Amino acid sequence: MKKTNHLRELMDYAGGHRHLTCLSLLLSAASAVLALFPFVFLFRIIQEVIAAAPDYAQATHIVHNGWMAVGFAALSIVVYVCALMCSHLSAFRIAGNIRKALMAHTAGLPLGFIGEMGSGKIRRIVSDSSAATETYLAHQLPDMAAAITTPVCMIIMLFLFDWRFGLVSLLPVILGFAAMFKMAGPSMAEDMKLYQNALADMNNEAVEYVRGVPVVKTFGQTVHSFKRFKGTIDSYYEFVMSYCKKCRPSMLSYTVLVNSAFAFLIVLALILVGGGPVAQPVLLNFIFYVIFTPLIATAMTKVMFMSENGMIVADAMSRIHSILDVVPLPEPRSGKVPTDNDVVLENVTFRYTGGTTDALRDVTIRVGAGETVALVGPSGGGKTTVAGLISQFWDVAGGSIQIGGINVKDIPKETLMDTVAYVFQDSRLLKASILENVRLAKPNASRQEVERVLHEAQCDDIIQKLPQGIDTVIGTKGVYLSGGEQQRIAIARVMLKNAPILILDEATAFADPENEVLVQRAFEKLSKGKTVIMIAHRLTTIKNAGCIFVLREGRVEESGTHDTLVAGGGLYAKMWRDYQTSISWKVGGTK
Ligand code: ADP
Repeated sequence: MKKTNHLRELMDYAGGHRHLTCLSLLLSAASAVLALFPFVFLFRIIQEVIAAAPDYAQATHIVHNGWMAVGFAALSIVVYVCALMCSHLSAFRIAGNIRKALMAHTAGLPLGFIGEMGSGKIRRIVSDSSAATETYLAHQLPDMAAAITTPVCMIIMLFLFDWRFGLVSLLPVILGFAAMFKMAGPSMAEDMKLYQNALADMNNEAVEYVRGVPVVKTFGQTVHSFKRFKGTIDSYYEFVMSYCKKCRPSMLSYTVLVNSAFAFLIVLALILVGGGPVAQPVLLNFIFYVIFTPLIATAMTKVMFMSENGMIVADAMSRIHSILDVVPLPEPRSGKVPTDNDVVLENVTFRYTGGTTDALRDVTIRVGAGETVALVGPSGGGKTTVAGLISQFWDVAGGSIQIGGINVKDIPKETLMDTVAYVFQDSRLLKASILENVRLAKPNASRQEVERVLHEAQCDDIIQKLPQGIDTVIGTKGVYLSGGEQQRIAIARVMLKNAPILILDEATAFADPENEVLVQRAFEKLSKGKTVIMIAHRLTTIKNAGCIFVLREGRVEESGTHDTLVAGGGLYAKMWRDYQTSISWKVGGTK
């Protein structure tokens, strides 16, 4: 039932190519029928040879029948190739349309969702899952049409020649299937679920293991240090072994039975002959059936594995839906453009999908136009979430966020993106030239403009050391930029965008103090005259912020200037004390 739905859904993506899939099914079925004709001519050859024996010179139609058999076999192949051509044209169109639909849908999704799912997973779904539908539609579906047609025609043929031999040829197939169904009883679905779970557990732990490889290597450990991973492999092994043992009798019976049709035919032939001389028609039919019946085993095995193909496409479709079913943020109806650059979060509450507690609860933060505020607090306090919500990475659950007095929900997406700019901790640069990377923010910017912002963002030393200056492609052989250098280029990019509101996520660690000073200087230049919300990790950098908001467990615990907060003796004062102690340790360490 589910399979038909998937097929119908896939067909919706076929557009005008839908009829090609139907045609491919018909052609594939026709090719399966044509593939049986050579056996008819083979039968005629055997018939003629037996009739003419021992004077074989009288068997004059052998060559003709032989050519007919070859002709039908060739025709069957040609028709099958045509079927595959039709199915491929349609399958490529469908997979292409699914990819387009996924990309178009992803573009409209909240950035938060893309971050949560991970660009790697999205890429895999867009390319691999759509490719799985392609294999299904281009190959498996026409093969399934053939797999169903072949046994049906065979059964008709089996009875057409000699119903007694026909019946006996079918007997092992029926018994074989009975053995299989015994295995595939209600416990099969349960076992399959257990199998999938064991596989998923093992895969998840494998991902954890790969993530932990640096730690394992650093501490000189072995895979045994990952007890859970080893545990999942062991339990998967035990499950698969016991499942195999359970299936062994049924599988063995099935394989032996469907391949032993000839033994049943010999018994019948002996009974029919009944100890007397071998009658010509009996011999003829016997030979024909011995040649023909092995095909039944092949055809039936194909039918049996059809459900597996269905499962693969069902899995691909469910992955595709994990993106397509995510509802995009509604496009604002009013389309208001803010004229001022103050940012106000009022009683904002937010919870991540799948989260058990609120990431933010009743948070109120006011930032005047041109003012600089800092968000500080322990890890997990909600700083990154506040930053994300301002740009509508997600929608707030309660309260509101306003820019220039306008709710962000009412600001068109493009306007919002032009108004708010981010500098992330791990600024990613594309594998393109520095010029192109910076121009991403403003595609029509002149070369001089790009050079100016790079200079402002303290990138002169980077450009000088690169072989082709700003035309050097990042990521090519030998061109490597450190984290701090990448961040300075990212700052240049944001400078070019010239958005009035900035959200800066300060990097937690720099490889060298020189870089740190340069990034700090670039930040200062970038922030001039802008409304700035800074997620700060080093407290010295925010001493002069207009207001500091201390976030803990999703709430604003306290707020004020550096001096008032230190005097207040609360969480910030403690953080400040700890920070100073850590600085003095560092200084002590360098002595
Ligand atoms: P901070 O930036 O202050 O370290 P975050 O804003 O990243 O804090 O996180 C706030 C809370 O939200 C934390 O409890 C964190 O576990 C949770 N959280 C963050 N990102 C996600 C996510 N993608 N899914 C579920 N919970 C999340």
